[in-house]
Amino acid sequence: MAFGVGLKYQQFNCSNGCLCGNPEQWAGVLSRRKFLAVSAATPMLLTASESSGATAQSSDEAAAASKSRIPPGLSKAIAAAIDADADRLVGIYKDIHQHPELGFMEVRTSDIIAKQLKALGFEVTIGIGKTGVVGALRNGEGPTLMYRADMDANAVEEATGLPFASRVRVQRDDGTEAPVAHMCGHDAHVTWMLGMARAMASAKDAWSGTLILVGQPAEELILGARAMVDDGLYSRRLVPVPDHLVALHTAPIPTGVVAARGGTIMAGTDQIDVTFHGIGGHGSMPQLTKDPVIMGSMAVVQYQMILSRVLNPLDTAVLTVGSFQAGSDNNVIPENALLKLNLRFFDLKVRDQMIAGVKTINDGIGTTYGMPEERMPAMVMKGFSPPLVNTESLVEKLKPALREMLGERNVATEFPPATGSEDVHILKGDNPNVEMAFIAVGIADPALFTEDLIKARRLPFSPHNPDFRVDLAAIPLGARIATLSVMELMVKA
Ligand SMILES: [Zn+2]
Ligand SMILES: [Zn+2]
Repeated sequence: MAFGVGLKYQQFNCSNGCLCGNPEQWAGVLSRRKFLAVSAATPMLLTASESSGATAQSSDEAAAASKSRIPPGLSKAIAAAIDADADRLVGIYKDIHQHPELGFMEVRTSDIIAKQLKALGFEVTIGIGKTGVVGALRNGEGPTLMYRADMDANAVEEATGLPFASRVRVQRDDGTEAPVAHMCGHDAHVTWMLGMARAMASAKDAWSGTLILVGQPAEELILGARAMVDDGLYSRRLVPVPDHLVALHTAPIPTGVVAARGGTIMAGTDQIDVTFHGIGGHGSMPQLTKDPVIMGSMAVVQYQMILSRVLNPLDTAVLTVGSFQAGSDNNVIPENALLKLNLRFFDLKVRDQMIAGVKTINDGIGTTYGMPEERMPAMVMKGFSPPLVNTESLVEKLKPALREMLGERNVATEFPPATGSEDVHILKGDNPNVEMAFIAVGIADPALFTEDLIKARRLPFSPHNPDFRVDLAAIPLGARIATLSVMELMVKA
């Protein structure tokens, strides 16, 4: 039986907005599938010559019945071109990794994309949704395909100890200082896109249509895609409405493995700030104050009752209070407390129930503590994204090329939706017919992955973890996966 059939990847588990993973869960699944031997062999998938061998191993009849539209000669030429480009791509990756930028601050990263795409003949527009960039390569009649790479990093202190580790710190708008590091692999996403751009530009004779490449800001904030659309991505006719929207994301599975299927892939999400106003005063005389720390504490606990006592137990939902900010001194009751909430859901009705529940609890607490109308708790709705749904037919079109490249067993096609979230699909704008394919790409060093599996250690590939690291072999491989995915949809008949 094929590796993908019956495979149950347990979850992708991002805490702040994107495709992420729980390595132990993946590890359990992969080990059950006797993955140890496979993972040790996956580096072989990196060269063009092995790809035909991988195909030969495939025993799936359905896979044999559906072939990639890319002629074998072209597929080999793409692999060879990206192999030849590998050192440059690894250099780009390390450079972006060493210079990470938080959401809407991606000036340098955006500039790298703009310069490279211009040099390849793309028409480039910068500054869309603040730091967003698009490049369009018009190459005759044919489909319009949009490919997205997100550019932002995380406010995490890198702990990998790698020679090219980030040491960057930035001043945020609110005056606080934050460490910055690419702990979600968006540096790899940008590099993959630039490798694909060069390969597609040099193979223009082989395909036709319009290729639109997007460097998207602020995915982690679930605000960047919306910002680009709202800034006139379509209304100012900066790019045509695409037929297809394709994106790759790093996943904590071995290099050489991808996960691709149609249907609901990731949860919807909201980021909400709640401020409890109080009346500050001396910590020794609480009777003269209204304590927002107490109000916020009540709220943190009560919010979980929405999940356990308001929602249908069969509905999936997550409500996390990721930040609780109040006061700074031991003996001062502060004026305000700020709670930063994150919601996850697969059904918009559940979203409505959760938001209504949060408001009801806030108001109830404000009333209980005797706050006047103008000092009742305030809610600010920030980033929102609906669940991410892949178009079945589009993913089906991509599978043959992925299988021929990676081998049948290395294309996982059955896994449950993740409670992680994305905003890439907001790039569709008001065009619901745009077909979507969002694919997870393994970035774990297979040898390290196997070693950690045997020793039951925590794997260093969990996104947003300070030790998150991308196998450098996954850099050219991801570029090749991106190129073949795009080429599959645009290759001349
Ligand atoms: Zn992330
Ligand atoms: Zn991410």
